[in-house]
Amino acid sequence: RRCMGSSIAYWAERLPDNIALDDAAGVFTYAELDRIVTDYARAFAGSGFKKGDRICWLGKNSALYFTLFAAASRAGAVIAPIGWRLAAPEVAYVLKDSQAALVICEPEFAETAKQAAAEAGTVKMILVAGEADGLQALDEWLVKTQPGDLPETNPAEGVLQLYTSGTTGNPKGVVLTNDNLFKMRPLVENKPEHAWIDISPDDSTLAVMPCAHIAGSGIGPIAFYNGATMMVIPEFHPDTVLDCVDKGLNQFFLVPTALQMLVNWPRAKDTDFSSVRSVTYGAAPIPLELLRQCIQTMPQALFCQQYGMTETTGTVCILPPEDHDPAGNERMRGIGIPLPGVELRIVNEQHNEVSPGTIGEIATRSGLNMLHYFNNPEKTAETVDSDGWLYTGDAAIMDEDGYFYIKDRVKDMIISGGENVYPAEVENAIFGHPQVNEVAVIGIPDEKWGEAVKAVVSPKPDAGEIDADSVISWARERIAGFKVPKSVDVISELPRNASGKILRRELRAPYWEGKE
Ligand code: ATP
Ligand code: MG
Repeated sequence: RRCMGSSIAYWAERLPDNIALDDAAGVFTYAELDRIVTDYARAFAGSGFKKGDRICWLGKNSALYFTLFAAASRAGAVIAPIGWRLAAPEVAYVLKDSQAALVICEPEFAETAKQAAAEAGTVKMILVAGEADGLQALDEWLVKTQPGDLPETNPAEGVLQLYTSGTTGNPKGVVLTNDNLFKMRPLVENKPEHAWIDISPDDSTLAVMPCAHIAGSGIGPIAFYNGATMMVIPEFHPDTVLDCVDKGLNQFFLVPTALQMLVNWPRAKDTDFSSVRSVTYGAAPIPLELLRQCIQTMPQALFCQQYGMTETTGTVCILPPEDHDPAGNERMRGIGIPLPGVELRIVNEQHNEVSPGTIGEIATRSGLNMLHYFNNPEKTAETVDSDGWLYTGDAAIMDEDGYFYIKDRVKDMIISGGENVYPAEVENAIFGHPQVNEVAVIGIPDEKWGEAVKAVVSPKPDAGEIDADSVISWARERIAGFKVPKSVDVISELPRNASGKILRRELRAPYWEGKE
């Protein structure tokens, strides 16, 4: 059961009629899913896919994607989903980097796939899940391919290759193993201390975050290890999530931007959220105000923050439900405590552990750490040391009680007049400003201060024009003087990547051109 494909087979034997997958196209029981997964896996083997070969998926979340993922796992191949929001040259980057020979795409992305494949030069075959000019249909290929024999799968081998969000630079190809995915199970094992997220065959999980991201490809499939139902939504929209809630969805994970849209969606006021037992959120800092609003909207739900990264198969640190309260508290500003079985510590530049209360970089060690960055031993060695500690690039402190508080990315720290300013803290202070919808804080070159703090904000619809001085005085009332922005830019919308993270580097670039 340590491989996703075999876990589906396990449940197909025990609970054949339980629903495994539920998406717009219909529902699949474990027995049906097991049959289809085996067909695809044998077709992959039959068309010459060997262990370790990469298969790229270019499409939204769908039952088909998760079927192919499980089939790849059974055939010993590695699935590499590509963000469908990417433009053809960005897709080409992933195709080339992953050396994928096969791309399976949705018709909507057929043109992008063709262009990117031509540019990458590595792709031997493109199959389309539907119809597209000049491309072979996946169905047809499945029917006409002579099934091959399936290899023994090894839990220590790669099964999923995900590209990091590209928030701080070029995306990196992270190889995760069957064991990595299986070890997400501590998150869900039926232990009293995890009662907030125990998943039994009667439960459902939601795959809504983009499948090219660990939150999309990692969290939903937890269902398959537990005989539960995975509900699949092609892409996030408040209405589609609310539709699932109406159908009795028990639990979901959303990133903060998605939660913000959900709780502010007019229909949310009339939605009965009583089936929702737990809400997990993370992947980016959440403003305390927003978290309080979410708790007020779903007071019965257990809230749990998750911190982690692609390189750690997602979550390694959680703020458990008991540390959440509707009025807000200090701990809700942090990311909580390591998961059982995970070591987490704060280190200095020499990678030595520092004492509680001192800022440093988060390092982590556990069975959730990636196998490696694909084809990139240098970058792997920079990130994971010989003792297995992975350096996250996140600056944080640990308090006396062992709770962790993220300051920001080490790379994004602003040094202004010799003082360290963490953008996230300044953003958090500005977020409550009545006219501000989104905010990003960056450092810009400054002759006097070295770097000066600048806020870039976008206005709430119908809230009128934002006066820069009002943002500055709002911040001055809430944070120390050296952290207060010296200037404010107002733009209509902040640049974000596909996982919803604000791209500070894009905002910063014009100011630093020729200066770094
Ligand atoms: P890249 O590595 O390409 O620059 P990325 O780091 O954004 O992109 P991901 O692996 O998707 O790619 O994101 C991991 C990062 O997200 C973490 O290193 C951390 O900075 C941030 N993060 C994750 N969870 C949380 C959380 N709960 N609170 C604050 N930040 C978080
Ligand atoms: Mg990263």
